Amino acid sequence: MHQFAYKGGVLHAEDVSLDALASEVGTPFYCYSTATLERHYKVFADAFSGADVLVCYSIKANSNIAVLRTLGELGSGMDVVSEGELRRARAAGVPPERIVFSGVGKTREEMAYALNEGIYAFNVESEPELAALNEVAHGLGVKARVALRVNPDIDPKTHRKISTGKAEDKFGVPFDRARALYKEAAGMQGVETCGIHMHIGSQITDLKPFGDAFTLLRALAGQLKEDGIKLEFINFGGGLGVPYRGSNDVPPHPDEYATVVLDAAEELNCKLLFEPGRMIAANAGILVTRVLYVKEGANKTFTVVDAAMNDLIRPTLYEAYHDIWPVRESLRAEPPQKTDVVGPVCETGDYLALDRDLPPFGEADLMAVMTAGAYGAVQSSTYNTRLLIPEVLVKGGHYAVVRPRPDYDELIGGEKIPDWF
Ligand SMILES: *Cc1c(COP(=O)(O)O)cnc(C)c1O
Repeated sequence: MHQFAYKGGVLHAEDVSLDALASEVGTPFYCYSTATLERHYKVFADAFSGADVLVCYSIKANSNIAVLRTLGELGSGMDVVSEGELRRARAAGVPPERIVFSGVGKTREEMAYALNEGIYAFNVESEPELAALNEVAHGLGVKARVALRVNPDIDPKTHRKISTGKAEDKFGVPFDRARALYKEAAGMQGVETCGIHMHIGSQITDLKPFGDAFTLLRALAGQLKEDGIKLEFINFGGGLGVPYRGSNDVPPHPDEYATVVLDAAEELNCKLLFEPGRMIAANAGILVTRVLYVKEGANKTFTVVDAAMNDLIRPTLYEAYHDIWPVRESLRAEPPQKTDVVGPVCETGDYLALDRDLPPFGEADLMAVMTAGAYGAVQSSTYNTRLLIPEVLVKGGHYAVVRPRPDYDELIGGEKIPDWF
C-alpha cells in the first residue's frame, strides 16, 4: 500500500503533482509520502497491539531526520548502527530510552557516546565487543544494558548480500556459544544483560525462516531462565520484505508475522522489540528522474535518464527490481518497448532497469522509480562528482525539501591542494 497514484492524468505523491514538484525542485529527486510512512508504522505496531512492544525503526533504511521525526511522533523507537545515526535519532527528538545500538564494529568512542546518551540497550555481536563495552561502561561508572545478538545459522532465502543469520555471515554470536557468553556477561561489572537479539536478514518474504529462528530464540530464552539470567526483552530484529513487483511477490502481512512471533514469545513474559526498516520506508518513497536521451544501440534501446547508480545503487548492488511508472499517465496506454534504463555514470553497472518492457518514454519525460524509499538515498554517493540529490517529504497537499541539493562548492570546496605546489 502506498500513496503514489494518478490524479488528472499525472502521478501524484498524496496530493502533490510530481510534474509540478519536478519543475520546482529539479530532477532527479527522492520523494517520500508521510501518509505511507505512518500507515506502515501503524500496521506493524497494530499487529502487536495488546503486547508490551517497542518498535525500533531501523534508521539505516532511510535516515532523513524528517522521516525519523515523522515516525518518532508516532512513538517509534530507533535502531542505530553508528554514532552518526544515534545523533540523527536524537536530532529528530527521539528519546534515548527508545534507542538500541546494533552493528559488529562499534568503536569505544561510539560506545561511550551512547552510554552518555543513556540508550535503551546495545545489541552486542561478539565476545571481544562485550569485553570492550564492559571496560568502557565500567570506566564511566555505569552499566551497559546488553542483548547478545545470536546467529542461529538459518538461511533466510533472500539475496546473499542481505542474509545476516547464516553461520558464514559476520553477524552475531554462534548460537551454541551464546549460553556460555551470557554466563560470562553476568559476571561483568560494566554490563547488565537484559535481552536477546536476532536479525537474520532483509527482504524476507517467507515466514518459515522467521519461525525456525524464533523457535531457537525461545529455546535459548528457556535455557537462560534456567541459568538465572533475567530477560526483560526479546528483540526479533527486522527483515520483513516488501512487494517490489507489485502484486507478484507479496510478502507476509505483519499480522501473519505477528502470529509467528507471538507463538514463540508465549509465556516468556518479555517485552517484544522489533527493528523493521524496509517494510516501513521502501514503499513510502520513489525516485523521480527525467529522460535525457533515447539512444538506439546496435541491438537494443537505451533510455538515458538523469539519475544513476550513485543515486540508487540497489539494481546493480543487489540485482534488485524496481517498478518504473511514467509520471504522465497517458504513456501507459501506449504499446511497451523493451529498453535498458541507464544513468550518466561511467560504469557498465550503471542501470536502473535492464531489458524492461516500458511505455515509450521520450526525451524530457518523467519517470518514477517505485519502492525506492528504503536503502535508496542512504546509500547514495557523489561518484563521478555528481551532486547528492534532494529529498522531498510530502504531507497531504504540502511538501518540504528535507535535504536540499548541495551546490558544487559544498561538493568540492573542502578539498585542498597541498602547499608543496
Ligand atoms: C538492517 C537491520 C535491520 C532492518 O532490516 P530491514 O530488512 O530493513 O527490516 C534491523 N536490524 C538490524 C540489526 C539491521 O542491521
